[in-house]
Amino acid sequence: MTELFDTHTHINTEAFFGKEDETIDRARELDVTRLTVVGFDLPTIKRAIELADHYDNVWAIVGWHPTESYAYNQTIEAFLIEQLQHPKVVAMGEMGLDYHWKDSTREEQDRVFRRQLAIAREMNLPVTIHNRDATADCYKVLKEERVFETGGIMHSFNGDPEFADRFIDLDMYLSFSGVVTFKNAPEVRASAKIVPSNRYLVETDCPYLAPVPYRGKQNEPAYTHYVAKQLAETRDISYDQVGKETTANAMRLFRI
Ligand SMILES: [Zn+2]
Repeated sequence: MTELFDTHTHINTEAFFGKEDETIDRARELDVTRLTVVGFDLPTIKRAIELADHYDNVWAIVGWHPTESYAYNQTIEAFLIEQLQHPKVVAMGEMGLDYHWKDSTREEQDRVFRRQLAIAREMNLPVTIHNRDATADCYKVLKEERVFETGGIMHSFNGDPEFADRFIDLDMYLSFSGVVTFKNAPEVRASAKIVPSNRYLVETDCPYLAPVPYRGKQNEPAYTHYVAKQLAETRDISYDQVGKETTANAMRLFRI
């Protein structure tokens, strides 16, 4: 049986409240046997840890979202450091830069991003990176903050092959979401084609970014299946091989 690892979900958000069991069951029916829940502010971090405690096949990722940078302070940082020590927390994030939304200034985002990268380095945890309209600056900060010491994930990778190569050179993994199935994303498929077999992952970013044939609907972990199918076609390998490679990559990075 093929096994898939959805490396980026938000089943800790309202869309899934009270529906967690059925969501995880439906995922299993489509070969998605493991997943991480990503917390990005206080309530979602608490819920991510609860879910990881409750389900054997669920792990947590804990960090502070760039759009919330304006609110970051010492109390939050102390809370993050405490949560990061939980045995089922496998990475720090999501963190990064988001130039689409303007809630936080670029300076605030840069500072909070670097703080978190320093904490991850100190705690020897891989990182999960959110990048929206900020690819060049993300690359620069990751390089300056020596992300290669811990490694990490470019979550929902949306860059072209040239940036794919550069992030891989920093020891990053590229995680492909439903975007790879979108008609208007040929550059993401081009990146998916050239990424080395030991450097790619699959994810949903649910409830957002549902892949074709569910584009525009609410996404859920089960739909990792369609991302993997697309990667099989793009890379001209079997669906089963995509499962084997991406699951092995996730387990290695998360040290599970
Ligand atoms: Zn996310």
